[in-house]
Amino acid sequence: MKSLITWAGWALAMTLAIPAAATTLAIRAGAVIDPEHGTVAHDQVVLVRDGRILAVGAGLAIPADATVIDLSHEWLMPGLMDAHTHLTLTEVTGGDAPFESFYIKESTAYRALRGLRNAGDLLAAGFTTVRDVGNAGEYAIEDVRRAIDAGMFPGPTIISCGKIIAPFGGQSHSIPAEQGRFWNYEYIDADSPAEIRKAVRQNLYYGARAIKLVLDNNAYHYSVEELRAAVEEAHAAGVPVSTHVYGGAAADNAIEAGVDSIEHGFFLTDAQLGRIRDKGIFLTSTDYPRAHLDIIGTSGGIFPPPEVLAPAIIDRLRRAHKIGVRLVFGSDTVNEMPGRTRADLMFDYLQVWRTAGIPATDTLKAFTSEAARLLHVDGERGRIAGGLAADLVAMPADPLADTENLRRIDFVMKDGRVIRGPAR
Ligand SMILES: [Zn+2]
Repeated sequence: MKSLITWAGWALAMTLAIPAAATTLAIRAGAVIDPEHGTVAHDQVVLVRDGRILAVGAGLAIPADATVIDLSHEWLMPGLMDAHTHLTLTEVTGGDAPFESFYIKESTAYRALRGLRNAGDLLAAGFTTVRDVGNAGEYAIEDVRRAIDAGMFPGPTIISCGKIIAPFGGQSHSIPAEQGRFWNYEYIDADSPAEIRKAVRQNLYYGARAIKLVLDNNAYHYSVEELRAAVEEAHAAGVPVSTHVYGGAAADNAIEAGVDSIEHGFFLTDAQLGRIRDKGIFLTSTDYPRAHLDIIGTSGGIFPPPEVLAPAIIDRLRRAHKIGVRLVFGSDTVNEMPGRTRADLMFDYLQVWRTAGIPATDTLKAFTSEAARLLHVDGERGRIAGGLAADLVAMPADPLADTENLRRIDFVMKDGRVIRGPAR
């Protein structure tokens, strides 16, 4: 396994990091990739100051007092984004253990520590922005985000969804009534437009910058009217709505209500994918590789068995791309495998995208500029252009020639601060 990034390695990288403050950094890049257009510009200079990109181009004058970072043998591109992650959740038991067992024995404080660790690992691997789509106890993710934003710990920009909003029962099934609604530790029960509006407001109050609803976890699911309440309330606050849904009538309602993204969507039909494209809805496709599914199992009854799900995922990704749906990368990686980091496991998803025949340029776009649009940070991040935040990664081989080269990222800059590297 390439480059296991440890917390100790991280701390060392931070110690060696070049401070961003008041220093102009000049990056000499062998190639700069624009995933948005699938183009490459060679022998470029990128000037960075106060955390932002000042200018990019060939033959730019380098100020005499600038610190030069030599990446002249590297491929530079915007920092990666994962639009579907759960930083504070780990399915420690895996297999077919009840889903509740993944959270019932962990305090919010412990969850925050876990999230901080994962956030650091993901940034070091090249993920400079992530959207956390819930499962964080009593808002552990908000404290993780706050600590990172305050500069206490390194980590990516986190767009958090707060607590997951769901019809009665969250993602639990058949819990005896005498146990009470312990799932409210992870979910908000909301069963009418009014309750949904209140749940959205509660999440916004605690710091959410996106909203997540679970649609088809039970025999009952949200109506168009209920979903419109979520969309209205969230959009009034300028935040997007994401919906966990596999397909069927619940997906029809989400499309009709005009949500911003379908998460998973494993069993969407061509007709549904066509409507998703027509309405400009994003598909965060969370394309688990078969090897992962064999370990995840049914995730406590939430997933179909691996032999059903794995081929469905590849087929759906291929169809979605062919139909022209806006694809965004989301990993949903919450499992552990011995000797491998969470970031390392996320790169395994690239194999699924290649198997589905997705061109490398569209894959890189899903990892950067398209994800930035869904996360409402496209005015700030996701491209290499003057005025945008200096969130950059580099590697010694071309990811457009082979997306597997993303595993070889050896330079990471976050808001103008060098997290890893310079490579040479
Ligand atoms: Zn998820």
